Amino acid sequence: MPGDSLKININSKGTEINTFDAIVVGSGISGGWAAKELCEQGLKTLVLERGRDVQHLKDYPTATMNPWEFKHRGRMTEKFMEENPLITQAAGFDESTAHFFIRDHDHPYVQEKPFEWIRGYQVGGKSLIWGRACPRWSKYEFINPARYGYGIEWPFGYDDIAPWYSYVEKFAGICGNKDGIESMPDGEYLPPFEFNCAEKDVKQKLESKYKDRYYIQGRWAQLTKPTAIHFEQGRAQCQARDLCMRGCPFGGYFSSNSSTLPWAAKTGNLTVRPFSVVHSIIYDEQKGKAVGVRIIDAASKKETDYFARVIFMNASALNTNLILLNSTSNRFPYGFGNDNGLLGKYVCFQNYRGSVHGSIDGYLDKYYYGRRTAECMVPNFRNIYKHDMDFVGGYMAFSACNRSNDNSDTVAEKIGGAFKDAMSEAGGWSIYMYMQGETVPKKTNHVALSKDKKDEWGIPLLVTNVDYDNNDEKLLKDFLTQASEMLDACEVKSISQDDNHWAPGRDIHEMGGCRMGKDSRTSLLNEWNQFHNCKNVFVTDGACMTSTGNQSPSILYMAMTARAAAFAVSEMKKRNL
Ligand SMILES: Cc1cc2nc3c(=O)[nH]c(=O)nc-3n(C[C@H](O)[C@H](O)[C@H](O)COP(=O)(O)OP(=O)(O)OC[C@H]3O[C@@H](n4cnc5c(N)ncnc54)[C@H](O)[C@@H]3O)c2cc1C
Ligand code: SF4
Repeated sequence: MPGDSLKININSKGTEINTFDAIVVGSGISGGWAAKELCEQGLKTLVLERGRDVQHLKDYPTATMNPWEFKHRGRMTEKFMEENPLITQAAGFDESTAHFFIRDHDHPYVQEKPFEWIRGYQVGGKSLIWGRACPRWSKYEFINPARYGYGIEWPFGYDDIAPWYSYVEKFAGICGNKDGIESMPDGEYLPPFEFNCAEKDVKQKLESKYKDRYYIQGRWAQLTKPTAIHFEQGRAQCQARDLCMRGCPFGGYFSSNSSTLPWAAKTGNLTVRPFSVVHSIIYDEQKGKAVGVRIIDAASKKETDYFARVIFMNASALNTNLILLNSTSNRFPYGFGNDNGLLGKYVCFQNYRGSVHGSIDGYLDKYYYGRRTAECMVPNFRNIYKHDMDFVGGYMAFSACNRSNDNSDTVAEKIGGAFKDAMSEAGGWSIYMYMQGETVPKKTNHVALSKDKKDEWGIPLLVTNVDYDNNDEKLLKDFLTQASEMLDACEVKSISQDDNHWAPGRDIHEMGGCRMGKDSRTSLLNEWNQFHNCKNVFVTDGACMTSTGNQSPSILYMAMTARAAAFAVSEMKKRNL
């Protein structure tokens, strides 16, 4: 079978030159962390990345451009929009960031049900273009799915991961307050961004009306006050320009490119091979373990095999599923590690459908300075200590109060001097709040490989079959009602509700398909992110997630990756791997 080690493809000088201690597949948020940890521990590490190289600072062509310097003032042409209906919907996609996203037609997949798969294929992956919200999961998110019967038990708990959260937070640089809220535990934070005057008022009113609801400053991967470890990475203080998704010339936000990859490179142990489309994992039946991975060179389309003692899968949740499903061998004829038939199943996402908006009277003599990149957060208050709603899971919300850019809406004649004057004055205040909801992992929500369609590298296309369910509708309804009530309690006017009806995927928090668990009959990975049945392969991106929680997930991927890498190194030292 293609994934067995007997058929070896080496285009260079024999196996030795293609052999490393560790291979990391993917160079995004989780892959960058795997590379850093493994290199720091002295492992010669090969990072295989399907996209082009992106060097910090050098490859951020739009980072310091002014709006008028863009050919289309930041917008994409109609032709481009027509040709790329999917990726142009992604948050933050525009003329200034388009080079960090894929083009639709280059990377097709099959949507059996609508699923908007947002991707950024380059060294750094989506770490260049992510939103950077970094709250911690609470202990309840780990235990509630099994406790309330909508998921299996996580193989570790909050207390196991908490030190690793601290570890990655300190290095990446996360800002925020210590708020002492159980459903969103505190971390190792740099000073928070400030509330503006309207937000201060919202906070005071909301928290005096509700005992269990809080309006807090966002926990964000932004260097508000860098420490020695950040300066050592060559990063500097965030200037609050809010142009992060173009790549930051100050290294003010965390990305693999600004932080983990250069740190790994400094050890002398890192090799990054861009344009390497990983095809599959190679399994050696005699050795009873994986021995390497097969790649297709993105340009020449040549196959090459690379070998290592341990393999970290960090291609992002659905790409990791794809590679694993494509890794067939005599031992694993249905995909890597897939003895129980659950690979590709229990794919889940986060529900971003609901938002509420309103206007705020007053504060017309007040303004704010700088473009704060963080939003405020309302931590989850549903189904925490007991299951008391007609749905399972919880939601948190992002929110902010802003003044509109200009006051010209109030000028009847949209022309002339009065109009110009009004444009130079700030308008009224408004507030928004949008949800990030937990979804239920379900066997029916799955991905698979197409039986007849392949991409240009000869790899089967991914087929997505993922949808909302009744629980999502109830949770959405509750959010819309509660968020409207909360704004009302804050004396917000003209409150409106919106259901954007986004397809799953546009949340960009897809997870699962290769979940962790205690029991090899119901999960693929153990508590250390190792395959139950092949201990030298680790999956530490979103594919490993047992449930979705309601918090933004990437800081958890970082913590799990660092934890799993430390374990892998200790097992290698004991010669268990
Ligand atoms: C606009 C936007 C906003 C977001 N906001 C937030 C947020 O605020 N908070 C949060 O927690 N998360 C956020 N996310 C999600 C976050 O970006 C992802 O959770 C995170 O990047 C996942 O890390 P990863 O390492 O799994 O994948 P990625 O960062 O996507 O990296 C995967 C890498 O693997 C490479 N790859 C894929 N397939 C192959 C292959 N076959 N062979 C070789 N290489 C391969 C890719 O090219 C990529 O470089 C956001 C994402 C976007 C796009
Ligand atoms: S807001 Fe901060 S992190 Fe973002 S681009 Fe500006 S300086 Fe960099």
